[in-house]
Amino acid sequence: MKITKVEPLFLDKFLLVQVHTDEGIIGLGESGAWGFLEASGAAIEKFGRYLIGKDPMLIEHHWQYMYRFSHFRGAAIMGALSALDIALWDIAGKHFGVPAYALLGGKVRDRARVYYHVFGDTTDVLVKGIVDAKERGFTAVGHLTPFLDEERDVPYFKTHASKINDAIDTVGMYRDAVGPDVDLCIEIHRRMTPTEAVQLGLGIEKYTPYFFEDPVTPDNFDEMAYVASKINIPIATGERFTSIWEFEQLLSRNAVQYVRPDVCLVGGITGAKKIAALAEARHVGVVPHNPLSPVSTMACLQIAAGAPNFALQEYPIGEEIPPKSDMVDGSAEHDGEGFLMIPTRPGIGIDLKPGAKENVPMVPREVVTRLHKDGSVIDQ
Ligand SMILES: [Mg+2]
Repeated sequence: MKITKVEPLFLDKFLLVQVHTDEGIIGLGESGAWGFLEASGAAIEKFGRYLIGKDPMLIEHHWQYMYRFSHFRGAAIMGALSALDIALWDIAGKHFGVPAYALLGGKVRDRARVYYHVFGDTTDVLVKGIVDAKERGFTAVGHLTPFLDEERDVPYFKTHASKINDAIDTVGMYRDAVGPDVDLCIEIHRRMTPTEAVQLGLGIEKYTPYFFEDPVTPDNFDEMAYVASKINIPIATGERFTSIWEFEQLLSRNAVQYVRPDVCLVGGITGAKKIAALAEARHVGVVPHNPLSPVSTMACLQIAAGAPNFALQEYPIGEEIPPKSDMVDGSAEHDGEGFLMIPTRPGIGIDLKPGAKENVPMVPREVVTRLHKDGSVIDQ
Protein backbone atom coordinates (compact mmCIF):
# COMPACT_ATOMS: atom_id res chain seq x y z
CA MET A 1 0.00 0.00 0.00
CA LYS A 2 1.20 3.50 -0.85
CA ILE A 3 0.09 6.96 0.24
CA THR A 4 -1.22 8.91 -2.76
CA LYS A 5 -2.54 12.18 -1.31
CA VAL A 6 -2.40 14.13 1.97
CA GLU A 7 -5.20 16.64 2.26
CA PRO A 8 -5.53 19.19 5.12
CA LEU A 9 -9.17 20.22 5.64
CA PHE A 10 -10.27 23.35 7.48
CA LEU A 11 -13.83 22.63 8.64
CA ASP A 12 -15.61 24.88 11.15
CA LYS A 13 -12.97 25.70 13.78
CA PHE A 14 -11.10 22.42 13.26
CA LEU A 15 -8.17 21.21 11.15
CA LEU A 16 -8.60 17.64 9.93
CA VAL A 17 -6.45 15.66 7.52
CA GLN A 18 -7.30 12.90 5.11
CA VAL A 19 -4.51 10.57 4.00
CA HIS A 20 -5.44 8.72 0.81
CA THR A 21 -3.92 5.42 -0.36
CA ASP A 22 -3.70 3.47 -3.60
CA GLU A 23 -5.92 0.75 -2.06
CA GLY A 24 -8.78 3.19 -1.56
CA ILE A 25 -8.41 3.32 2.23
CA ILE A 26 -8.61 6.86 3.58
CA GLY A 27 -7.27 7.75 7.04
CA LEU A 28 -8.68 10.64 9.06
CA GLY A 29 -6.84 12.68 11.70
CA GLU A 30 -6.98 16.03 13.49
CA SER A 31 -4.51 18.70 14.61
CA GLY A 32 -4.79 20.05 18.15
CA ALA A 33 -2.94 23.33 17.47
CA TRP A 34 -6.25 25.20 17.66
CA GLY A 35 -4.73 28.67 18.01
CA PHE A 36 -2.64 28.33 14.86
CA LEU A 37 -4.48 25.98 12.54
CA GLU A 38 -3.27 27.81 9.44
CA ALA A 39 0.37 27.16 10.42
CA SER A 40 -0.43 23.57 11.33
CA GLY A 41 -2.13 23.08 7.94
CA ALA A 42 1.03 24.34 6.20
CA ALA A 43 3.09 21.81 8.19
CA ILE A 44 0.69 19.02 7.14
CA GLU A 45 1.26 19.97 3.50
CA LYS A 46 5.02 19.93 4.01
CA PHE A 47 4.98 16.54 5.77
CA GLY A 48 2.60 15.35 3.05
CA ARG A 49 5.30 15.87 0.42
CA TYR A 50 7.46 13.40 2.38
CA LEU A 51 4.66 10.87 2.91
CA ILE A 52 3.40 10.57 -0.67
CA GLY A 53 4.60 7.29 -2.17
CA LYS A 54 5.45 5.82 1.27
CA ASP A 55 3.98 2.71 2.94
CA PRO A 56 1.41 4.02 5.50
CA MET A 57 1.96 1.00 7.78
CA LEU A 58 5.44 2.14 8.90
CA ILE A 59 3.89 4.45 11.47
CA GLU A 60 6.70 4.71 14.04
CA HIS A 61 9.33 5.10 11.31
CA HIS A 62 7.43 7.95 9.66
CA TRP A 63 6.84 9.53 13.10
CA GLN A 64 10.57 9.48 13.84
CA TYR A 65 11.46 10.74 10.35
CA MET A 66 9.08 13.70 10.50
CA TYR A 67 9.97 14.56 14.12
CA ARG A 68 13.71 14.35 13.70
CA PHE A 69 14.39 15.71 10.21
CA SER A 70 14.77 19.30 11.48
CA HIS A 71 15.48 21.26 14.67
CA PHE A 72 11.98 22.65 14.85
CA ARG A 73 8.98 21.39 16.84
CA GLY A 74 6.34 23.27 18.81
CA ALA A 75 2.56 23.08 18.78
CA ALA A 76 1.74 23.84 15.11
CA ILE A 77 4.23 21.25 13.86
CA MET A 78 3.32 18.66 16.50
CA GLY A 79 -0.37 19.20 15.74
CA ALA A 80 0.40 18.35 12.12
CA LEU A 81 2.47 15.30 13.04
CA SER A 82 -0.30 14.17 15.41
CA ALA A 83 -3.02 14.54 12.77
CA LEU A 84 -0.98 12.45 10.34
CA ASP A 85 -0.15 9.81 12.99
CA ILE A 86 -3.86 9.42 13.84
CA ALA A 87 -4.69 9.10 10.14
CA LEU A 88 -2.02 6.41 9.70
CA TRP A 89 -3.42 4.41 12.66
CA ASP A 90 -6.85 4.81 11.07
CA ILE A 91 -5.49 3.35 7.83
CA ALA A 92 -3.76 0.49 9.67
CA GLY A 93 -6.95 -0.44 11.51
CA LYS A 94 -9.04 -0.28 8.34
CA HIS A 95 -6.44 -2.39 6.50
CA PHE A 96 -6.73 -5.19 9.08
CA GLY A 97 -10.45 -4.65 9.68
CA VAL A 98 -9.99 -3.90 13.40
CA PRO A 99 -10.10 -0.84 15.66
CA ALA A 100 -6.72 0.91 16.01
CA TYR A 101 -6.52 -0.11 19.70
CA ALA A 102 -6.61 -3.77 18.68
CA LEU A 103 -3.17 -3.23 17.10
CA LEU A 104 -1.88 -1.71 20.36
CA GLY A 105 -2.59 -4.67 22.65
CA GLY A 106 -6.36 -4.65 22.63
CA LYS A 107 -8.90 -3.08 24.91
CA VAL A 108 -8.91 -3.32 28.70
CA ARG A 109 -12.38 -1.77 29.11
CA ASP A 110 -15.66 -1.58 27.20
CA ARG A 111 -16.63 1.96 28.19
CA ALA A 112 -14.71 5.14 28.98
CA ARG A 113 -15.95 7.42 31.75
CA VAL A 114 -16.22 11.03 30.63
CA TYR A 115 -16.49 14.49 32.08
CA TYR A 116 -18.92 16.82 30.42
CA HIS A 117 -18.16 20.47 29.69
CA VAL A 118 -19.91 23.13 31.75
CA PHE A 119 -19.58 26.82 30.83
CA GLY A 120 -21.15 29.98 32.19
CA ASP A 121 -20.65 33.65 32.89
CA THR A 122 -22.71 33.56 36.11
CA THR A 123 -22.70 31.10 39.01
CA ASP A 124 -26.40 30.39 38.31
CA VAL A 125 -25.60 29.26 34.77
CA LEU A 126 -22.66 27.16 35.98
CA VAL A 127 -24.72 25.47 38.72
CA LYS A 128 -27.53 24.82 36.23
CA GLY A 129 -24.99 23.28 33.85
CA ILE A 130 -23.80 20.84 36.52
CA VAL A 131 -27.35 19.87 37.49
CA ASP A 132 -28.28 19.41 33.80
CA ALA A 133 -25.23 17.19 33.26
CA LYS A 134 -26.26 15.04 36.23
CA GLU A 135 -29.79 14.73 34.85
CA ARG A 136 -28.34 13.58 31.52
CA GLY A 137 -26.49 10.79 33.31
CA PHE A 138 -22.99 12.27 33.53
CA THR A 139 -21.06 11.53 36.72
CA ALA A 140 -18.30 14.09 36.21
CA VAL A 141 -18.18 17.65 34.93
CA GLY A 142 -15.21 19.70 33.92
CA HIS A 143 -14.03 22.83 32.18
CA LEU A 144 -15.61 24.00 35.42
CA THR A 145 -14.19 27.23 36.74
CA PRO A 146 -14.47 28.55 40.30
CA PHE A 147 -14.26 31.96 38.63
CA LEU A 148 -16.59 32.73 35.72
CA ASP A 149 -16.36 32.22 31.97
CA GLU A 150 -16.79 35.92 31.33
CA GLU A 151 -16.37 37.45 27.89
CA ARG A 152 -12.83 38.40 26.93
CA ASP A 153 -13.84 42.04 26.52
CA VAL A 154 -14.87 42.35 30.19
CA PRO A 155 -11.89 43.81 32.13
CA TYR A 156 -10.97 41.69 35.14
CA PHE A 157 -10.50 42.96 38.67
CA LYS A 158 -10.97 41.52 42.13
CA THR A 159 -9.13 42.04 45.40
CA HIS A 160 -7.02 39.07 46.48
CA ALA A 161 -9.42 38.28 49.33
CA SER A 162 -12.45 38.33 47.03
CA LYS A 163 -10.71 36.31 44.33
CA ILE A 164 -9.84 33.48 46.74
CA ASN A 165 -12.92 33.53 48.99
CA ASP A 166 -15.44 33.88 46.14
CA ALA A 167 -13.79 30.97 44.34
CA ILE A 168 -13.94 28.76 47.47
CA ASP A 169 -17.62 29.65 47.99
CA THR A 170 -18.39 28.93 44.33
CA VAL A 171 -16.89 25.45 44.48
CA GLY A 172 -18.99 24.87 47.61
CA MET A 173 -22.07 25.92 45.64
CA TYR A 174 -21.21 23.37 42.93
CA ARG A 175 -20.85 20.61 45.50
CA ASP A 176 -24.11 21.54 47.26
CA ALA A 177 -25.95 21.43 43.90
CA VAL A 178 -25.14 17.80 43.11
CA GLY A 179 -23.86 16.25 46.32
CA PRO A 180 -21.35 13.43 45.88
CA ASP A 181 -23.05 12.08 42.71
CA VAL A 182 -20.97 14.18 40.31
CA ASP A 183 -17.20 14.61 40.36
CA LEU A 184 -16.01 18.17 39.94
CA CYS A 185 -12.97 18.72 37.71
CA ILE A 186 -11.94 22.21 38.71
CA GLU A 187 -10.31 24.15 35.86
CA ILE A 188 -8.17 27.16 36.79
CA HIS A 189 -6.94 27.92 33.26
CA ARG A 190 -3.58 29.14 34.58
CA ARG A 191 -5.10 32.17 36.34
CA MET A 192 -3.11 32.01 39.57
CA THR A 193 0.35 32.50 41.00
CA PRO A 194 1.78 29.54 42.94
CA THR A 195 0.93 31.05 46.34
CA GLU A 196 -2.63 31.91 45.23
CA ALA A 197 -3.04 28.38 43.91
CA VAL A 198 -1.99 26.91 47.27
CA GLN A 199 -4.47 29.12 49.15
CA LEU A 200 -7.32 28.15 46.84
CA GLY A 201 -6.32 24.48 46.74
CA LEU A 202 -6.37 24.23 50.52
CA GLY A 203 -9.67 26.13 50.62
CA ILE A 204 -11.54 23.77 48.30
CA GLU A 205 -10.09 20.53 49.64
CA LYS A 206 -13.21 19.99 51.78
CA TYR A 207 -15.32 19.78 48.61
CA THR A 208 -13.28 16.80 47.31
CA PRO A 209 -12.64 17.95 43.74
CA TYR A 210 -11.58 15.19 41.38
CA PHE A 211 -8.69 17.35 40.23
CA PHE A 212 -7.35 20.90 40.19
CA GLU A 213 -6.34 21.68 36.61
CA ASP A 214 -3.59 24.03 35.50
CA PRO A 215 -3.54 26.12 38.68
CA VAL A 216 -0.49 27.99 37.32
CA THR A 217 1.00 28.41 33.87
CA PRO A 218 2.62 25.09 32.96
CA ASP A 219 5.85 26.62 31.63
CA ASN A 220 7.74 26.03 34.88
CA PHE A 221 7.74 22.42 36.07
CA ASP A 222 9.19 23.35 39.49
CA GLU A 223 6.34 25.77 40.20
CA MET A 224 3.77 23.07 39.43
CA ALA A 225 5.67 20.69 41.71
CA TYR A 226 5.69 23.34 44.47
CA VAL A 227 1.88 23.69 44.30
CA ALA A 228 1.45 19.91 44.23
CA SER A 229 3.61 19.56 47.34
CA LYS A 230 1.51 22.03 49.33
CA ILE A 231 -2.06 20.95 48.59
CA ASN A 232 -4.05 17.78 49.19
CA ILE A 233 -6.00 17.56 45.94
CA PRO A 234 -4.64 16.07 42.71
CA ILE A 235 -3.20 18.35 40.03
CA ALA A 236 -4.08 17.75 36.38
CA THR A 237 -1.93 19.34 33.69
CA GLY A 238 -0.32 18.75 30.32
CA GLU A 239 -2.72 20.01 27.65
CA ARG A 240 -0.13 22.40 26.17
CA PHE A 241 2.72 19.90 26.03
CA THR A 242 3.84 18.30 22.81
CA SER A 243 6.28 15.56 23.77
CA ILE A 244 6.98 12.62 26.04
CA TRP A 245 9.98 14.53 27.41
CA GLU A 246 7.87 17.33 28.89
CA PHE A 247 5.62 14.81 30.61
CA GLU A 248 8.69 13.08 32.01
CA GLN A 249 9.81 16.42 33.51
CA LEU A 250 6.45 16.74 35.29
CA LEU A 251 6.31 13.14 36.42
CA SER A 252 9.86 13.06 37.74
CA ARG A 253 9.02 16.06 39.98
CA ASN A 254 5.77 14.55 41.33
CA ALA A 255 4.11 17.65 39.86
CA VAL A 256 1.07 15.91 38.40
CA GLN A 257 -1.44 13.26 39.49
CA TYR A 258 -3.47 13.23 36.24
CA VAL A 259 -1.62 13.77 32.96
CA ARG A 260 -3.63 15.49 30.23
CA PRO A 261 -2.03 14.59 26.88
CA ASP A 262 -3.85 15.99 23.85
CA VAL A 263 -3.74 13.12 21.37
CA CYS A 264 -3.89 15.69 18.54
CA LEU A 265 -0.83 17.53 19.88
CA VAL A 266 1.53 15.04 21.57
CA GLY A 267 2.35 13.08 18.43
CA GLY A 268 -0.97 11.36 17.94
CA ILE A 269 -1.86 7.90 19.16
CA THR A 270 1.85 6.95 19.04
CA GLY A 271 2.84 9.80 21.38
CA ALA A 272 -0.15 9.51 23.73
CA LYS A 273 0.34 5.77 24.20
CA LYS A 274 3.93 6.39 25.35
CA ILE A 275 2.86 9.15 27.75
CA ALA A 276 0.22 6.87 29.25
CA ALA A 277 2.93 4.25 29.86
CA LEU A 278 5.25 6.82 31.50
CA ALA A 279 2.37 7.81 33.80
CA GLU A 280 1.50 4.18 34.52
CA ALA A 281 5.00 3.66 35.90
CA ARG A 282 4.19 6.30 38.56
CA HIS A 283 0.57 5.27 39.23
CA VAL A 284 -0.59 8.52 37.62
CA GLY A 285 -3.94 8.60 35.82
CA VAL A 286 -4.55 9.65 32.20
CA VAL A 287 -7.26 12.17 31.31
CA PRO A 288 -6.88 12.89 27.57
CA HIS A 289 -7.42 16.55 26.71
CA ASN A 290 -10.10 16.99 24.07
CA PRO A 291 -11.65 20.35 23.24
CA LEU A 292 -11.76 19.53 19.52
CA SER A 293 -13.97 17.73 17.00
CA PRO A 294 -15.50 14.22 17.22
CA VAL A 295 -12.43 12.98 15.31
CA SER A 296 -10.29 13.85 18.33
CA THR A 297 -12.79 12.15 20.66
CA MET A 298 -12.50 8.92 18.67
CA ALA A 299 -8.69 9.15 18.65
CA CYS A 300 -8.77 9.64 22.44
CA LEU A 301 -10.96 6.56 22.84
CA GLN A 302 -8.21 4.45 21.25
CA ILE A 303 -6.03 5.42 24.25
CA ALA A 304 -8.90 5.07 26.74
CA ALA A 305 -9.56 1.58 25.39
CA GLY A 306 -6.11 0.22 26.04
CA ALA A 307 -4.41 2.23 28.80
CA PRO A 308 -4.82 0.50 32.18
CA ASN A 309 -4.33 3.86 33.95
CA PHE A 310 -6.93 5.74 31.88
CA ALA A 311 -9.08 7.68 34.35
CA LEU A 312 -11.50 10.03 32.60
CA GLN A 313 -12.13 11.40 29.12
CA GLU A 314 -12.91 15.05 28.35
CA TYR A 315 -16.10 15.11 26.27
CA PRO A 316 -16.81 18.44 24.60
CA ILE A 317 -20.31 19.77 24.63
CA GLY A 318 -22.49 19.53 21.57
CA GLU A 319 -21.02 16.65 19.57
CA GLU A 320 -24.54 15.85 18.46
CA ILE A 321 -25.42 19.29 17.11
CA PRO A 322 -24.46 21.05 13.84
CA PRO A 323 -21.95 21.72 12.46
CA LYS A 324 -20.26 18.64 13.96
CA SER A 325 -23.14 16.40 12.95
CA ASP A 326 -22.83 17.69 9.36
CA MET A 327 -19.15 16.91 9.33
CA VAL A 328 -18.64 13.32 10.43
CA ASP A 329 -20.22 9.91 10.47
CA GLY A 330 -19.56 7.72 13.52
CA SER A 331 -19.34 9.97 16.61
CA ALA A 332 -18.81 8.38 20.00
CA GLU A 333 -21.91 6.91 21.63
CA HIS A 334 -22.90 8.05 25.15
CA ASP A 335 -24.47 5.23 27.16
CA GLY A 336 -26.65 7.58 29.24
CA GLU A 337 -24.65 6.75 32.39
CA GLY A 338 -21.65 9.00 31.88
CA PHE A 339 -19.56 6.68 29.72
CA LEU A 340 -18.71 6.60 26.02
CA MET A 341 -18.77 3.18 24.41
CA ILE A 342 -15.37 2.04 23.15
CA PRO A 343 -15.84 2.09 19.36
CA THR A 344 -15.76 -1.16 17.42
CA ARG A 345 -15.48 0.12 13.84
CA PRO A 346 -12.17 -0.46 12.03
CA GLY A 347 -9.56 2.27 12.38
CA ILE A 348 -10.43 5.09 14.76
CA GLY A 349 -14.10 4.55 13.94
CA ILE A 350 -15.13 7.80 12.29
CA ASP A 351 -15.19 9.21 8.75
CA LEU A 352 -16.03 12.44 7.00
CA LYS A 353 -19.60 12.68 5.77
CA PRO A 354 -20.02 13.06 2.02
CA GLY A 355 -20.25 16.77 1.25
CA ALA A 356 -18.59 17.84 4.52
CA LYS A 357 -15.84 19.68 2.65
CA GLU A 358 -18.43 21.79 0.85
CA ASN A 359 -21.01 22.09 3.63
CA VAL A 360 -18.88 23.01 6.66
CA PRO A 361 -16.95 26.26 6.06
CA MET A 362 -13.89 27.28 8.07
CA VAL A 363 -14.44 29.53 11.10
CA PRO A 364 -11.10 31.27 11.68
CA ARG A 365 -10.04 31.98 15.26
CA GLU A 366 -8.99 35.58 15.81
CA VAL A 367 -6.37 36.88 18.25
CA VAL A 368 -8.41 37.95 21.28
CA THR A 369 -7.54 37.73 24.97
CA ARG A 370 -8.65 39.25 28.24
CA LEU A 371 -7.23 42.32 29.95
CA HIS A 372 -7.02 43.34 33.58
CA LYS A 373 -8.71 46.57 34.65
CA ASP A 374 -5.25 48.17 34.55
CA GLY A 375 -4.84 47.28 30.87
CA SER A 376 -2.36 44.42 31.25
CA VAL A 377 -2.91 40.92 29.88
CA ILE A 378 -4.28 38.18 32.16
CA ASP A 379 -4.69 34.46 31.61
CA GLN A 380 -8.18 33.04 31.19
MG1 LIG B 1 -7.76 22.58 30.52
